[in-house]
Amino acid sequence: MDAEFFRAWIAEIAAVVQDQRDHLTQLDAAIGDADHGTNLARGFTAVQTALGDASPATPGAVLQLTGRTLISTVGGASGPLYGTAFRRAAKALGDSPGVDLAALAGALAAALDGVRQLGAAGEGEKTMVDALAPAVAAFAKAVGDGADSTTALAALTGAADAGAQATIGMQATKGRASYLGPRSVGHEDPGAASSALILHALRDVAARGPA
Ligand code: ADP
Ligand code: MG
Repeated sequence: MDAEFFRAWIAEIAAVVQDQRDHLTQLDAAIGDADHGTNLARGFTAVQTALGDASPATPGAVLQLTGRTLISTVGGASGPLYGTAFRRAAKALGDSPGVDLAALAGALAAALDGVRQLGAAGEGEKTMVDALAPAVAAFAKAVGDGADSTTALAALTGAADAGAQATIGMQATKGRASYLGPRSVGHEDPGAASSALILHALRDVAARGPA
């Protein structure tokens, strides 16, 4: 997977986030402040512009600029969290021109670590961590077992979807939704939902062409 692949991933995220903007905002309306979809749509639109202007040459540079732009354009909790995730992934990839499945697994693990450090949320607190953590673990296991890219990415998205669905039954103890206490139960966490979308975009781009 080269810089072109990672640009295609980010472009796919931007398109999906635009498409799902109202859905994500509705999820946030139920347990937050109804801005998650608009936050991410604004952020990834700015990212697309930045990537178009700068044309970064390596996968790491693509993800670094993505993270930096999200941090500077997305207000709310999710901007710094996703921004940090992309920047940590970038750092893990360094300046290598090509990324194999093992390196991608390392980058995703680094991204999750960044989210955990910044947000201090563990699993079960009804946040994006509940989609990201099982997804990253399932992907690492599949890659470790020697799975091909299609199989490993299916494990990634399957675990992300299950993790996002599982947030419905959780009570939020981090972020804005925690203000609702027990009333946060019964709704899918918007950040878990957007994390699943971001990982689906990765799988879809990989399925489309040579990675
Ligand atoms: P805000 O809550 O500031 O309005 P957004 O609506 O854009 O920001 O994002 C909300 C999402 O951010 C939540 O659904 C949750 O997944 C995620 N989130 C909030 N706080 C944390 C945290 N401490 N750790 C991990 N994720 C968090
Ligand atoms: Mg919000």
